[in-house]
Amino acid sequence: MKTCAVCGNDIQDRERVCPFCRSPQSSRAATGSTTSRQERIRTVNLKKGLPRVDDALRTLHHELTNARAGRVKVIRLIHGYGSTGTGGKIKHAVQQELASLARSGQIKMSVVGDDYAASDPGKELRSRYPELARSSRTDFGNPGITFVEL
Ligand SMILES: [Zn+2]
Repeated sequence: MKTCAVCGNDIQDRERVCPFCRSPQSSRAATGSTTSRQERIRTVNLKKGLPRVDDALRTLHHELTNARAGRVKVIRLIHGYGSTGTGGKIKHAVQQELASLARSGQIKMSVVGDDYAASDPGKELRSRYPELARSSRTDFGNPGITFVEL
């Protein structure tokens, strides 16, 4: 098994196209992009390695710390949405965790993919970070991801 690099759902290793979001899958897992200039948007796949919920939350905190240290502004978090495996549980736990982090001021805000295209927070996020437009085709209405603004 592996996880879709776009929506985070569990899929078979041999799948060339994700059966959930129809995104083409590369044969090798995407690694960190090479960045010569300041990286503002970072994609983090919480489903990598098919973790349990508590592992995924630990990874979330670790990645938030890393991103802050690297002066990343927005994390594009891939958590899946429960079509298979633990995705639904991870999504739910991540939303709760992000809400609590926003309340205590540790993140600015978060927008789940379901609301990203049409909601005001989603629109405001895209106007602050125009480079988000590059991935809007796979991100609009994608229930497997959440944007986190640091
Ligand atoms: Zn997918």
